[in-house]
Amino acid sequence: MHQSPSSSAASPAPAPAPRDTAPRALPHRTLAILSIGDELTLGQTLDTNGKWLSARFAEAGVITVERCTVPDDLDAQVQALQRLATKADVIVCSGGLGPTKDDLTREALARAMDDTLVEDPIALAQIEAWYMARGRTMGPLNRLQALRPSRAVALANPHGTAPGIAGRVQHADVFCVPGPPKEMMPMIESQVLPRLMYDQSRSVRTRTLHCFGLAESDLAQRLGSLMDRSRNPLVGTTASGGIISCRLRYEGPGPAAHADALLDETAREIRGIAGEYVFSEGAATLPGVLLEALRTRGHTLATCESCTAGMLAAMLTDVPGSSAAYAGGLVTYSNSLKVQLAGVDAKLLAEGGPGAVSSEVARELALGTLRRLASTHALSITGIAGPGGAVPAAAGRPAKPVGLVCIGLASIDGEASAGAPACEVRTFAFGGDRATIREWASKSAMAMLWQRLIGRRAPLLREVVAEVAG
Ligand code: ATP
Repeated sequence: MHQSPSSSAASPAPAPAPRDTAPRALPHRTLAILSIGDELTLGQTLDTNGKWLSARFAEAGVITVERCTVPDDLDAQVQALQRLATKADVIVCSGGLGPTKDDLTREALARAMDDTLVEDPIALAQIEAWYMARGRTMGPLNRLQALRPSRAVALANPHGTAPGIAGRVQHADVFCVPGPPKEMMPMIESQVLPRLMYDQSRSVRTRTLHCFGLAESDLAQRLGSLMDRSRNPLVGTTASGGIISCRLRYEGPGPAAHADALLDETAREIRGIAGEYVFSEGAATLPGVLLEALRTRGHTLATCESCTAGMLAAMLTDVPGSSAAYAGGLVTYSNSLKVQLAGVDAKLLAEGGPGAVSSEVARELALGTLRRLASTHALSITGIAGPGGAVPAAAGRPAKPVGLVCIGLASIDGEASAGAPACEVRTFAFGGDRATIREWASKSAMAMLWQRLIGRRAPLLREVVAEVAG
């Protein structure tokens, strides 16, 4: 049921009142997040606020116990607030603080607090000042944004017109913040986190290691008892786009340094078990880590792409500052360009030869690119991204199914790094649709180079033939 926010707006000129509850005796340990808005429940907007809030509060030692999304419906919002208040020490409620009739958060909080709405003169002055600073006059509807429950306080919002509100429902401290992430994030930093009470006797610390090239189940098997749910630090895994993220979380007694030491130890154990697949910690991405590793060695990389046609180059150049290590690349989609630009022997592509998708051509593409683009390393990718293009078996030659991809890696310092040859080709049989095959091919190429740089060659997921040639 929708109701107007004005329905419980009481006195027009109230005195600002302090919160009527005594300061909390216990620290804030648990968080519930309430994301509000029809655009979320209709699937039109992704709840990125919830994601960000969970991560940010975890960094501060407050763990999310529930995330809940409700539409612009007053009853649903009141019920959610009352239910979440029984589960968490803090509730952060985002959205629904705008000036229109579907912005019901103020009203919902007042109801959940069994309170009435009053106008906050300081919040009103801030909204007026916001408009004045932009040479505009505040409209009558914006006045509604200065309302808050009488026993709550308004929180300043320097980036928009909607003030936040801090109140209390049962024993939970509730912070209502506007939905737009650019307003919500700075308010959490400046208005919410400083108001929390932290437990100095214990800590919550997290860490994430990222892997590529093995299956999530394979990693879990290798990790064995490290993934026991009773363990502290707790270890969990998540897979997305071929990247397996290994989440470590310590929650318990002791200062942050103690937690960090335990996380270091667990991270070391994981690297010991799957180090050839662990490429980064934290926010670093596979292309980012690879480019940094090249840059610190004074190396450069060039690419030659057929079926990925620039996807690998795009992934690399998405990283700011990539020009420090990425020289550039060739897109040799046609056979004639493979010959003209990369110097592939035309006989390999002619009738009776191994064909464009073959380890021989991948090798020539990589070696030709290395020579012509004068880089330290060259990666080549040639394959069948599908859905068409599969090649049936012919006399003396096996079938080439969709998903077959040959990746070449040529390096001028090949001999020097861990005894690796100057050029290697690995062949993969990727599954999935065209987009997935191209994405996996690009990432596998980067993983090949990563393994060469760290001097630890290991089979990569979906690799069918490991071929090494001098
Ligand atoms: P405003 O004063 O801008 O109206 P508000 O508090 O009323 O702020 P909403 O109207 O609920 O916020 O949302 C405004 C915009 O913020 C949405 O259109 C959406 O783009 C973004 N937004 C809201 N909630 C979320 C969320 N949970 N995750 C990501 N974006 C969100």
